[in-house]
Amino acid sequence: MDYRFALIGYPIGHSLSPWIHQQFLAKTNLTGLYTLEEMEPNQFERNFATVKSKNYSGFNVTLPFKQTIIPFLDGLDSHAKAIGAVNTVKNDQGNLIGYNTDGIGYLRSLESAYPNLIENKDKRVLILGAGGAARAIYYALSHGGFQTIDIANRSLDNAQKLVSIKASETTTRILSLLEAEQELSTYDLIIQTTSIGMKPNVNEMPMPLTNVKHTAIISDIIYQPIWTKFLKAGAIKGVNLHFGHTMLLYQAQYAFEIWTGNKPLMNDMETKLKQLLEG
Ligand code: NDP
Repeated sequence: MDYRFALIGYPIGHSLSPWIHQQFLAKTNLTGLYTLEEMEPNQFERNFATVKSKNYSGFNVTLPFKQTIIPFLDGLDSHAKAIGAVNTVKNDQGNLIGYNTDGIGYLRSLESAYPNLIENKDKRVLILGAGGAARAIYYALSHGGFQTIDIANRSLDNAQKLVSIKASETTTRILSLLEAEQELSTYDLIIQTTSIGMKPNVNEMPMPLTNVKHTAIISDIIYQPIWTKFLKAGAIKGVNLHFGHTMLLYQAQYAFEIWTGNKPLMNDMETKLKQLLEG
């Protein structure tokens, strides 16, 4: 069978997804093609009808359509439903089913780098940011059993909106970025999900790491650049680091698995993607 995958979004000219999924096809000895379906936001309904008629095996969805697409699908898995956003669609015999692989992808990438952490669900977690990616990660960590997950965000209202999707065993406090900075020494895992520090604003970071404890893990989901100012500050403090390009790979791995039933091995992928991103 020749698989046909696509990415829907705008703009997507620089997307790494075609490269990642072509690697996965080769690794799993499958054949297929991954193409870009860039579409203007103001014509979504008409453009999506065209994409649908092409009968793709599956496709990824990125900004600005992760929520727009939901009414056009035939069903949603539990993660996508709770998160309220779709980044992967599977064509199941003509039925389009929406998934969100960001949260599970993040967990897998964390587990790959720090296998013991996932076993210790009493570790204290702080998420910086409350946007779409934070929502997916918060859902996955909370329903994955983590008991303390606090959220710090510029807008406290936006942070408060996340709390309704948590598992009942998880406790969450909403903090300002300043409060979080003052309490930084109490956290074992600090996950940076805001867009602060993303290209071209590479000299910015959400807060200094003066108060971080030396055993903590600093995780930044930004992957352009791979070495954000936040991670560089973590390296100077000598803490453990977790990189955004690994989340990008593992969310793609889970999407590929949903489409094909095959889980590609990741052995050399992190190094290859790192080389690609660092040009
Ligand atoms: P959203 O636009 O949904 O959320 C942005 C978040 O950043 C909000 O919490 C927002 O706060 C905060 N923020 C933005 N600018 C500032 C600022 N100047 N000061 C303080 N807070 C700010 O974005 P996403 O969640 O979709 O993406 C966030 C980042 O994660 C991006 O850099 C994206 O590239 C990356 N990402 C990486 C993935 C990976 O696979 N590695 C996957 C998905 C995203 P507020 O609520 O107050 O506006």
